[in-house]
Amino acid sequence: MPGPTNGRKRNQNKRQKKLLKEIAALSQSVSQNAPAPVELDTAHADQSHEQDNADSTLEQGGEPVFESSSGVESRWNGPRVMDIPAFLDSKYATPPSLDDPICAEYNSRAIKEALRKNLPLEIALILWYNRSRAKARICPSCHRFYNIDEPLAAHVQGNTQEVEDMEDPRNQSEKEITGICSLLCFGIVSYSWPGCIGAWGKRYPDIDERTRAKLNKRVEPEPNEEGLGVFLRISRMADEDLLPVLQSMYDSGVNMYSN
Ligand SMILES: [Zn+2]
Repeated sequence: MPGPTNGRKRNQNKRQKKLLKEIAALSQSVSQNAPAPVELDTAHADQSHEQDNADSTLEQGGEPVFESSSGVESRWNGPRVMDIPAFLDSKYATPPSLDDPICAEYNSRAIKEALRKNLPLEIALILWYNRSRAKARICPSCHRFYNIDEPLAAHVQGNTQEVEDMEDPRNQSEKEITGICSLLCFGIVSYSWPGCIGAWGKRYPDIDERTRAKLNKRVEPEPNEEGLGVFLRISRMADEDLLPVLQSMYDSGVNMYSN
């Protein structure tokens, strides 16, 4: 029966179909350069671990040393996740925030499977981790793992511009939305989508039209970009848009890699 509710529903379905098509186009272009997906060990991802980095690291000459099986190594200016599946199975990973309804929804098997099938494994796991945790994040570019409430060190010590950028409110917002930890890392993630600086720190609906057009423009991704371009786009989609798209991908068995 026609009515405002049905109209809203139709619009929502239309929007979802459009987004699904856009993601499909982006994912297909990425998949040409991406490695074949590896089976996601969802059992690992579901495990709850007590995060207690202070107790679980050993100090060696002032440098923290992480258990080698954790996939974490001390590099550059701090610990980095070098093996995402191993990290998720380690005690350093923060458990999903099941008391947060949105995080709990992202923690479902359907959502994880949809991400796994449509993105390279590593970037799928990072997107899943960042959306299913309230405050814990992994930066998709430099792979440092952190809590959004804690200040982060600049990548280049003594670089005053980077320190200024880190203090910009847009940086905090970007960390919350996507997990990208700095403007420097945003630049690396958006390398294949030039001119998208206006998207920094913003969810998709808040991005100005000019930047949005650039973000939506289909470009050939750089070799070995490992899905970062798709991450740039879909990681800033609002939950009410992204969740149904991923759910419908799961329901319809859409798998971009097999196309
Ligand atoms: Zn980073």
